[in-house]
Amino acid sequence: MEDSNNPDYMEKFYLDCGFSTRALHAGEHVAQPQHSSHGGAIYQSSTFVFDSAREGAQVFAGERPGYIYTRLGNPTVKMLEAKVNALEGGAVKLANPHLRVSTQGFSSGMAAISTTLMAVCSAGDTLIMGDVVYGATEHLASGVLSRFGVNTIELDTSDLAAVEKTLAQHPEAKALFFETPTNPTLSVTDIRAVADLARVVNPRMKVVVDNTFATPYLQRPLELGAHAVVHSTTKYICGHGVVVGGVMTTIDDQIRRRAYEVLANVGGNPSPFDAWLVNLGLKTLPIRMERHCDNAMEVARYLASHPKVDRVFYPGLETDPFHELASRQMKKYGGMVSFEVKGGLEAGRTIMDNIEIFTLAVSLGCVDSLIQHPASMTHACVPRHKREKGGVTDGLVRVSVGIEDVQDLIRALDRALALV
Ligand SMILES: *Cc1c(COP(=O)(O)O)cnc(C)c1O
Repeated sequence: MEDSNNPDYMEKFYLDCGFSTRALHAGEHVAQPQHSSHGGAIYQSSTFVFDSAREGAQVFAGERPGYIYTRLGNPTVKMLEAKVNALEGGAVKLANPHLRVSTQGFSSGMAAISTTLMAVCSAGDTLIMGDVVYGATEHLASGVLSRFGVNTIELDTSDLAAVEKTLAQHPEAKALFFETPTNPTLSVTDIRAVADLARVVNPRMKVVVDNTFATPYLQRPLELGAHAVVHSTTKYICGHGVVVGGVMTTIDDQIRRRAYEVLANVGGNPSPFDAWLVNLGLKTLPIRMERHCDNAMEVARYLASHPKVDRVFYPGLETDPFHELASRQMKKYGGMVSFEVKGGLEAGRTIMDNIEIFTLAVSLGCVDSLIQHPASMTHACVPRHKREKGGVTDGLVRVSVGIEDVQDLIRALDRALALV
């Protein structure tokens, strides 16, 4: 099954321009048939009008582009898809003009992930998955895909020796899925090395990366050998905490066709309004990420020097075990910082209940700073032994560092830590 409006989003898509120019201009006046409005229009419509029965038949047959029904495609959603395409896949397309890069928008990050995994796995297949992934991703594999006959093997993908061993044991695996950096302890996987290992063992194995924490501004897995990239746009890509959404970008023809078939028939499409908001957010992704990263670095340095903090997880710190790899693979180190406060759960609670400016809430990647306690919130459903193996101790606090004035964030942390 094919999306008739998706010949190749890459024509006239500012591919010879920098990231910020693409974030602002790609898709804006190409993916939407309405050319006269400067801001992309919101096509808040379930269905689209045909000029004639003949034209309708041609659009249905895929003989001419056109919109039919919003589950199958929508001009506002297309605008977002085109922009993400230029950001995740622009450099790959420029280097290999014959490659077809395509992006699909979804109603959530989980819709993007589930659709992509349904595209690469069938009953009886093996899926290799990072052992520290978003909770719902893990439950999708262990509770849902398992019922459809997909067997999932877990693996610490940041350990290349373990990757090599697992791949040798499961060369028939259809896909390898992981996140980098991971949540909440920010371990980093060498995408190129893992993709190379997978290709040697089985050239047909698909490598899929959840790039939510890094965003395409900091890291582009397709340039490093991955076949597909997924995002929860709920986080940095929208950036303002007002939408739940997702996207998937792929250079693989089979993933593109099958994912569109799943999307069209399972129905994880985004609403036009949500797609419009995510598109708006993307325009400022570069400047937001610069500020998130710079603020997070200062927050991490401050925490690392604080006597009440046992350990800080941030790949930007020279002392972090993943610093060298992250420096090679990412433009900067992201906006997420986790730290272990002395005094365990009680100390963590004191900070979260008293801190100023930071909002106590899960999710991440908002313009404003958020704070949460993984052991009792996002990771509460993960069994304790597994949680602790992944570094999620009772004293671990996770902050999504916003773009406020950093001295205000540090003062807020300082005052909260003084109460511990
Ligand atoms: C939030 C998140 C998801 C799930 O996305 P939703 O938009 O909440 O469905 C998947 N992966 C990562 C890394 C996330 O942070």
